[in-house]
Amino acid sequence: MATLDVDFLIMGGGVAGAACAALLARQGHQVGLIDARRPRFEPASGEFDLRVVAISPGSRRILAAAGAWDRLEPARLAAYRSMQVRSGAFGVDFEAADHGLAELGWIVEIPALEMALWQALERMPRIELVAPASWASVEQGAETVRVKLADGGTVRAGVLVAADGARSRLRHLAGLATDEWHYNQRALVGPVRTEQANTGLAWQRFTEHGPLALLPLPDGRSSIVWSQPSQRSETLSQQTAEAFLAELNRHQDSPLGAGVEVGERRTLALVRRRARQLVQHRIVLLGDAARSVHPLAGQGLNLGLMDAAALAESLENRTAQDPSLALTNYQRWRLSGGSLIGGGIHAINETTRLPGGLGRHALAAGFKLAARAWPLREAFVQRACGIDSDSPRLARIGSPAQ
Ligand SMILES: Cc1cc2nc3c(=O)[nH]c(=O)nc-3n(C[C@H](O)[C@H](O)[C@H](O)COP(=O)(O)OP(=O)(O)OC[C@H]3O[C@@H](n4cnc5c(N)ncnc54)[C@H](O)[C@@H]3O)c2cc1C
Repeated sequence: MATLDVDFLIMGGGVAGAACAALLARQGHQVGLIDARRPRFEPASGEFDLRVVAISPGSRRILAAAGAWDRLEPARLAAYRSMQVRSGAFGVDFEAADHGLAELGWIVEIPALEMALWQALERMPRIELVAPASWASVEQGAETVRVKLADGGTVRAGVLVAADGARSRLRHLAGLATDEWHYNQRALVGPVRTEQANTGLAWQRFTEHGPLALLPLPDGRSSIVWSQPSQRSETLSQQTAEAFLAELNRHQDSPLGAGVEVGERRTLALVRRRARQLVQHRIVLLGDAARSVHPLAGQGLNLGLMDAAALAESLENRTAQDPSLALTNYQRWRLSGGSLIGGGIHAINETTRLPGGLGRHALAAGFKLAARAWPLREAFVQRACGIDSDSPRLARIGSPAQ
């Protein structure tokens, strides 16, 4: 049974919460981290986890500063240097080298990221990991938050960070209202082998059913992320491999050639959520607890990692005893950053769903223009890579030790 007194208590040790804990501890704060579970990652099984995410160069720097990036097994990372996005007959291509970058991003398994972060946290003197555990009640005082754990333990903290995911119970308790959009779409995910090995291409087409992406896996296969109407997605996930591949190949015309072998498939419900405020006195939202976005741009976790770095930057040279100015700054910064990206992604998804393919034609026209407008492309790459002027310093330039 734990009785702890810390500066910051992070509720939720997913990637965003664990990264935030590491960054705050490295600034000299005492940090507690509670999660209902400990991460599990079984690389020995050989198969890649179905939950893979695209990590931007800015996020990579944040993960490095948190002590996690170097713990990832290089053989399980897939860098991508090229990106192709298609709608109708038009598209835009991006090459990392054209933008002065070595990579546009990496595909990484979520459990591998969680494990690397927790291993780093276990070695940090200012961190207390409390897991598996869950909270029973939370009381906010004038200068502290008191959390009672389900096993009877208590934790007192200057600030409580809610990083407990998209359906955050803490957000609900704090009375922080959200706007929600249920897309009636599910993302079908799974690995596919194509005629040509995928050695570093992130490809996406806006199909008549929804955006279909092929993202590189380290063994030359690609991870499919195909967002479609829920019923259709479920049906495709249960089809035989042959029937599924036939349908996939009717819609994907990537340079990788036809899909020839598909592995386990799974579908995930897609909901956009956006908290209207990120701070309520001494409770602050971070990661998916703050907002969750459609996966078509691969930005959800990247936004969460930007939150973690922005919170740490806002708190630089401040104590948990007097955080109000820092939290106000964090809220302003991340509400606008999250709304811009989240709103943009939402608008693209909704436009492409207009009847008669109208929206996809509009998007194609946009691609035609964007293909020629260099400043626009550069601004897009900087923002998507988490290295534009609005990104936290850690994302743009890294920590001095890096
Ligand atoms: C199909 C799909 C594809 C995606 N692709 C990308 C991509 O390419 N790039 C990208 O950046 N993002 C992507 N995302 C989004 C990304 O997966 C999420 O944004 C990210 O995983 C959220 O991380 P998090 O740490 O905020 O929350 P979570 O991973 O949900 O972690 C929350 C943690 O809180 C703990 N918790 C919850 N409740 C409690 C409680 N009551 N007590 C204690 N602990 C609790 C949980 O156990 C968990 O560990 C994708 C999402 C989907 C659905």
